[in-house]
Amino acid sequence: MPAVNDVLISGAGVAGPALAHWLHHHGIRATVVERAPGLRSGGYAIDLRGVAVDVAERMGALAEIRRNVTEMDGAAFVDARGRRSARFSSADAVDDGRSLEILRGDLVRILHAPTTAHTEYLYDDTLTALEQDGDRVRATFLNAAPRTFDLVVGADGLHSATRRLAFGPEERYARFLGAYISIFTIPDHLGLDREARLFNVPGKAAGMYHTPRAEGAKAIFLLRSPESSGIDRRPPAEQKAYLRAEFAGLGWENDRILDAMEETGDFYFDSVTRIHMDTWSAGRVALLGDAGYCPSPMSGQGTSLALVGAYVLAAELARHGGAAGALAAYEARMRPYVDANQAIADAGLGILAPRTRRGILLRDTVLRAGGPLLSLLGRFDRRLSNAAEALDLDAPAPDPARP
Ligand SMILES: Cc1cc2nc3c(=O)[nH]c(=O)nc-3n(C[C@H](O)[C@H](O)[C@H](O)COP(=O)(O)OP(=O)(O)OC[C@H]3O[C@@H](n4cnc5c(N)ncnc54)[C@H](O)[C@@H]3O)c2cc1C
Repeated sequence: MPAVNDVLISGAGVAGPALAHWLHHHGIRATVVERAPGLRSGGYAIDLRGVAVDVAERMGALAEIRRNVTEMDGAAFVDARGRRSARFSSADAVDDGRSLEILRGDLVRILHAPTTAHTEYLYDDTLTALEQDGDRVRATFLNAAPRTFDLVVGADGLHSATRRLAFGPEERYARFLGAYISIFTIPDHLGLDREARLFNVPGKAAGMYHTPRAEGAKAIFLLRSPESSGIDRRPPAEQKAYLRAEFAGLGWENDRILDAMEETGDFYFDSVTRIHMDTWSAGRVALLGDAGYCPSPMSGQGTSLALVGAYVLAAELARHGGAAGALAAYEARMRPYVDANQAIADAGLGILAPRTRRGILLRDTVLRAGGPLLSLLGRFDRRLSNAAEALDLDAPAPDPARP
């Protein structure tokens, strides 16, 4: 197959602009189509860990990312009357420079800005059809005229349109992890200073956190649901009613958060879902980031996978003559790293929303004990750090003879 010279990327989130950067670096032209009318700003706090920090450094973005970190200082677990049952401080965590927290909107802005010099962005548009014809893919858009490309990359998130068009319906690949999550901005009526408060009843968590990087506070609801009820696909008004029914009258700040939720301008609600696929490419269409291998917010590793995936995909496209070899190598290098990070999500949910009162008590006791904390939460932390480092950015090309 001839080399790849021009690529269409669907999605200007984390993965899209990062891939545009690396394609340009390797002399490959990129066009990005984004459904939203512009870059989406604000949003929740996300982490960059392990090799993703190295990718950010190689992009020349690390200093700017460090200038924009959330500066969060710790979290306290509180009871129904707001009394602290346990606390942990960021000062207690090992700061080896391998983990950074930043608001998603700040990261997207930092990754996107330098790419505008060389990459065309088509906003307010979306793919409606993909037809593969020999060595080219014909992309049809809702608004723009059809165009052809050597490769189309879906970097359009958990509910990827590219995945649906080239691989089939989302239900085939989505694995519901038994929880729903909601996050939105509200006034900071607690006067928090760079900290988070978290409240639990069995199977449910409500929280608020403040960072100087954003107005007000971010409110979070996380709740377990053994079956997928489909509420994530209902209109926001129904999702809000569902949250009200589940959290009203539980104590702490729940009622105030629910009232503020009605006025918020950035209500987000989704299922906690992983995407599992046997392959991330179909001919000349490939998937990147959440579109191909969303590990769920509970792993805290989606952003890192997106950033590292963009680096590896572009490197393999540059290294290989044709798309097929490049996409096979991208998959071979990313698969173990993705598997390791996807495996973390269950533990994350267990810590944030224990199923039982006993589980909540145990977590808080362990937290209060300080040192012994390492045996429980420390185990999660070690698994997380190991998974975050589980890819060699400079690995030689995989041996095609090996399965
Ligand atoms: C509440 C929450 C908390 C999280 N916390 C963390 C965390 O602590 N750490 C962490 O690493 N990750 C976290 N994540 C996950 C992280 O946000 C994602 O894994 C990461 O953003 C993936 O990047 P992406 O570029 O693949 O997808 P996204 O960032 O979702 O970007 C997808 C882009 O595609 C666009 N798009 C969607 N559909 C279309 C379409 N049809 N056509 C064109 N464009 C389209 C979207 O508008 C968006 O701009 C969290 C996620 C959530 C929801």
